Amino acid sequence: MDPMQDPDVLQRKLRRLDFLHRLGQSTRPLTDPTDLMATTARLLGEQLGATRCAYADVEADSDRFTIRADWSQPGVPTSAGEYRLALFGSRAVADLRQGRHLVVRDVQAELAEDDGAAMFRAIGIHAIICAGLVKDGRLVAMMAVHQGAPRDWTADDIALVEEVVDRCWAHIERVRAVALLEEQDRNKDVFLATLAHELRNPLAPMRYAAAMLALPDPAQHARAREVIGRQVGLMARLIDDLLDISRVNRGLIVLQRETVDLAVLLERAVEIARAGLEAAGHAFALRLPAGPAPVHGDPARIVQVVANLLNNAGKYTPDGGRVELAAWTEPGLALVEVADTGLGIAPADQERVFQMFAQLPHTAGRAKGGLGIGLALARHLVVLHGGTLTVASEGVGRGSRFRLALPLATGDAAAPVPGAAAPGADALQPPDAAGPGTRVLVVEDNEDSRATLAALLQALGHEVRAVPDGRSALALAPRYAPQLVLLDLGLPDIGGIAVAQQLRAGLMPASSRIVALSGWGTAADRARTRAAGFDDHLVKPVDLARLRQVVAASAGG
Ligand code: ADP
Repeated sequence: MDPMQDPDVLQRKLRRLDFLHRLGQSTRPLTDPTDLMATTARLLGEQLGATRCAYADVEADSDRFTIRADWSQPGVPTSAGEYRLALFGSRAVADLRQGRHLVVRDVQAELAEDDGAAMFRAIGIHAIICAGLVKDGRLVAMMAVHQGAPRDWTADDIALVEEVVDRCWAHIERVRAVALLEEQDRNKDVFLATLAHELRNPLAPMRYAAAMLALPDPAQHARAREVIGRQVGLMARLIDDLLDISRVNRGLIVLQRETVDLAVLLERAVEIARAGLEAAGHAFALRLPAGPAPVHGDPARIVQVVANLLNNAGKYTPDGGRVELAAWTEPGLALVEVADTGLGIAPADQERVFQMFAQLPHTAGRAKGGLGIGLALARHLVVLHGGTLTVASEGVGRGSRFRLALPLATGDAAAPVPGAAAPGADALQPPDAAGPGTRVLVVEDNEDSRATLAALLQALGHEVRAVPDGRSALALAPRYAPQLVLLDLGLPDIGGIAVAQQLRAGLMPASSRIVALSGWGTAADRARTRAAGFDDHLVKPVDLARLRQVVAASAGG
C-alpha cells in the first residue's frame, strides 16, 4: 500500500500537525523567554507522555548550559539550574556540537558510567532524547526529554523534539531581539531628555553674559567674556564626545598614529585637568616612567583618555582629596594608573561604568553635566589602540583606581609631540597686528557667526570683509584680493568646496590662503578639503588660538 494512504501514517501526521498548531497558538502571545520555555516544555512533555521536559540555553562559552524553566510530572523535581555540558560525557558533547542528537533508550544498558549514566541514574532517569540545535556552527540550545523508565523512542518522537527545539529557539531569539530594541529605545529616550537638559544648561549663563555686555562697566565685560568662553568650551566638549561615540559606533574613528613618549602625553593631560583638580582643592601627585615609554598611538586620543580619567577622579572625590597619576613600564606594556580617594565604585558596578550612559546613583550629585559617555568612549579608544582600560575599587567610599595598559612601541624612537595651544590661550590682547593686519574674507551664512567672527578679527587688528554666500564671495574676491579666505563649507547657494575651486582657478592671488570652516573634523573631512585646494581646516566653534595661527600663517601672503 502507498504509505501516504496508510491510515496509520496519516493519523500520526495529523497528530503531529495538530500538536504543532496547538503549540503555536499557546506560545504566540508570549513575550517572556522563560514563559515560552516553560509552556513549550509542558506541551511537549505532555504530548510525549514524558517524565520531564526542559529547554536549555547553551552559553556563549559553549561549555555550560542553563535551564531557566522546565516541566515535569507531579512529584518529579525540576531540573532548572546551570550545568556543565561535560556532564553528558565527551562523546555525547562532541555529537551534540555536531548537531547529532543524544538518544538513549535504556541508560543502564547503553551508557558508560563516565558518559552520564551515573548522573542520570542519580536523578532517576532511564531514557533520554536530547536534541541539540546548531546555528552558524555553534551549539546554541538543547531540548531534553526524560523518561523515568526505559523507553523505545520512535523516529517520530525524535523528529518532533528536533522540530520543537528549532521553533522554540527561533521564537526566543525574536522576543529577545524585541526586548533589546525596546530597552535601547528607552535608554535613548532617557538620553535625549538628559541631553536636551545638558545642552540647555550652558545657555542660561551665556544669555546672562550677553546681557552683562550691555552694561557700561568694563569689569562686567571681562566676567561675561570668561563665562561665555567657559560655557562654549563645555558645550563643545559635550558635542565632540557625542560625535565621537557616534563615529565609534559606525566604525569611523581612524587613529592618527605616531610613536610618542607617553610622559609627554601624560603631562599634556595633566595640563588640561589641573585647573579642575586645583579648584576642588585636591592634592595631586604625578609619577612619570623612569625611562622612555614609547607608544604607537594617536596622541590626541591618548591625552583625551587620560584627561578624562583625571577629570573623573577630580569630580568623584569630595573636595580636599588626593589624586595620583602614576605611569611605569613592564615588558611590552606601558601602564598608567589614575587613583583617587573618592566615592569609589561597588564591585558589582565596576564593569557597568564603561557602558554607554551608565551613571551610578551615589555619584549623581557630582557628575557636573556629564552624560555617562566619557568612560565608554575612553574604553573604545583604548581598545582601538590594542590596550585595556579597567577599574579597581574596594567599594563605595573607598576610592577608585583606573588602569590603562598600552602596548609599548618597538623599533623607531619616540618623536616629539607637536605642541598644542596651552589652555587659557583664549585671551584677546594684544592685537596680532599694529598696522593694517591681514586682509581677511569671511564667508559664512550664519549671521551671528559671521558678525562675531568679523568683529573678533577686526579687534585683533585685521582688515575684514564678510559675506553670507558663495556668489558674493566669488564676486568680491577679485576686487578685494584677500590674503586669507575663511570659508564655511555649508553655504546656501554654492557649496564651499566648489567656491574654493573657483577661487583657486584665478580669482585670487596664488599666494592667498583658503581655510575651511566646518562642523566636521574627521580625517576624511580634512582629506576632502585638502584635496579641494584648502590650506587648512578649522572645526567650529573655532578656538581663538587656532584662529590666530591661521591668520598669522597668511600674513605677508
Ligand atoms: P560622567 O562622568 O559624565 O557621568 P563617565 O562615563 O566618565 O561619565 O563615568 C560614568 C560613571 O562612572 C560616572 O557617572 C560615575 O558614576 C562613575 N565614575 C567614573 N569615574 C569615577 C571615579 N573616579 N570614582 C567614582 N565613580 C566614578
